[in-house]
Amino acid sequence: MKNIKNYNLKELEEELINLNEKKFRAKQIYKWLYIDKVKDFDEMTDLSLDLREKLKKEYTICNYKIIKKQESRDGTVKYLFDVLDGNAIETVVMQYHHGRTICVSSQIGCKMGCKFCASTGIPFVRNLEAGEIVEQIIGAEQDLNERISNVVFMGIGEPFDNYENVVKAIKIINDQKGINIGARHISVSTSGIVPRIYDLAKENIQCTLSISLHATTDEKRSSMMPINKKYNIEELIKACKDYIKITGRRVSFEYALAKDNNDNIEDARKLVELLKGMLCHVNLIPINKIENGNFLKSSNENIIKFRNFLNEHGIVATIRRELGTDIDAACGQLRRKNLK
Ligand code: SAH
Repeated sequence: MKNIKNYNLKELEEELINLNEKKFRAKQIYKWLYIDKVKDFDEMTDLSLDLREKLKKEYTICNYKIIKKQESRDGTVKYLFDVLDGNAIETVVMQYHHGRTICVSSQIGCKMGCKFCASTGIPFVRNLEAGEIVEQIIGAEQDLNERISNVVFMGIGEPFDNYENVVKAIKIINDQKGINIGARHISVSTSGIVPRIYDLAKENIQCTLSISLHATTDEKRSSMMPINKKYNIEELIKACKDYIKITGRRVSFEYALAKDNNDNIEDARKLVELLKGMLCHVNLIPINKIENGNFLKSSNENIIKFRNFLNEHGIVATIRRELGTDIDAACGQLRRKNLK
């Protein structure tokens, strides 16, 4: 059985044509799935009984069950969704003054092995399908009875290690006839899989590219993020510059500050050198301590000093607000769970 949420509108039209149906049926189905958020083909009352039966034979409507929902004092909500194969993933919804931002997972587990991230703790299981990424948004919107306005691919997994499904999900999320979240309100974060940066540049999607940089020398970055041994800082920055040239879009860099590791002014100076003249923005993240992790959070004073140094030297930098730490929903704190 195929998950009907895996198709963009055009592909769904083709599916219907293959079922000897009129292609406009796809739009009707799309509306039921993404606007009405129905859980069953029988709820699609403007389709004939015959078509509903046909659909039931070919497809499932993936509906995630909420196994657990935690709410933080700051309004952050973390869901543990049953992904229907014995595994569970976490999805976080944050409340900002401009609306709700959802942090979606792209894989069950992660292969990247970053030393400071809890998603590394448990082995990789599989990629999420496009429809399984999309379903996290529908499931959360339905539960909250509220619209989500921003999507960040910053949950469990490396989006560029599941590139095709992630791009497909972005297109479904972005479709005006579907979930209709503008591409400019969608961010994809990568640990730095360089060839996929070039691929994304060619997709012609106006989403934001975020790069998890975290260090300014190859030695330090490789010790924190093994992917740096494959694609080093020079290649990564070159790819970002090319991305900016091709798309005209600003790139965002994430830099998690760990005490006595990458948080002194010398590091800030190197960061300025690296990013000088680039159309970019730096997001400073106070590192969150994880179980068995060696990294400690920088002091507030240091974080502010670091930001000020960047700003004074022409690099736009902001400190990411820490949300949901009391429910382990903050950056780097998500893990996959096994239900068996
Ligand atoms: N694999 C992607 C998506 C994960 S995004 C990536 O690496 O970009 C999650 C963001 O949180 C990344 O920037 C990641 O580096 C950062 N992060 C991971 N562990 C963290 C921690 N313990 N404290 C703060 N940020 C962390």
